[in-house]
Amino acid sequence: MSLLDIVYYPDPVLLSVGKPLEDEEFDGHLETLVSNMFDTMEKADGVGLAAPQVGISKRLFVMDVPGENGDRVRQALINPEIIHIEGEQVGDEGCLSFPGLFQLVKREMRVIARALDVKGDEFELDVDDLAARCILHETDHCDGIVFLDRMTPLKRELAKRKIKTLQKTGKWN
Ligand SMILES: [Zn+2]
Repeated sequence: MSLLDIVYYPDPVLLSVGKPLEDEEFDGHLETLVSNMFDTMEKADGVGLAAPQVGISKRLFVMDVPGENGDRVRQALINPEIIHIEGEQVGDEGCLSFPGLFQLVKREMRVIARALDVKGDEFELDVDDLAARCILHETDHCDGIVFLDRMTPLKRELAKRKIKTLQKTGKWN
């Protein structure tokens, strides 16, 4: 097991658009990266972790979201695309790159996403609730968007103030 360093906001890699993975990148290195990302996410008690959060500006993320009927979604999504969204949910959201910050964020309730797995095979996920929230949050990371950008202006200001306080107390990095 090998843990990766998680980068914190406002590291520029979090605000950059990730590069899609090319065919030749589907090799043992990618499998190791994905496995290390799962380990890093689990150690940090997260349900999702995107490559930019470990300093790699590429379009991939891992997720492990428990479902209501034991239908856990544990998956690596490479070059993810959101192909359908519907409904709405408002709930508390956190991010491993914003330690200790939780804020209400409005997201769609249901998501259908298409992605490649570590072998380069295409698959689709049709999920709702927390898994949908996770896919939207992590796909945003691949696009250089952080959850701060999805908050209302008022909540964003509150969040930025809280970040400043956390930075001052040394709890941010
Ligand atoms: Zn995040």
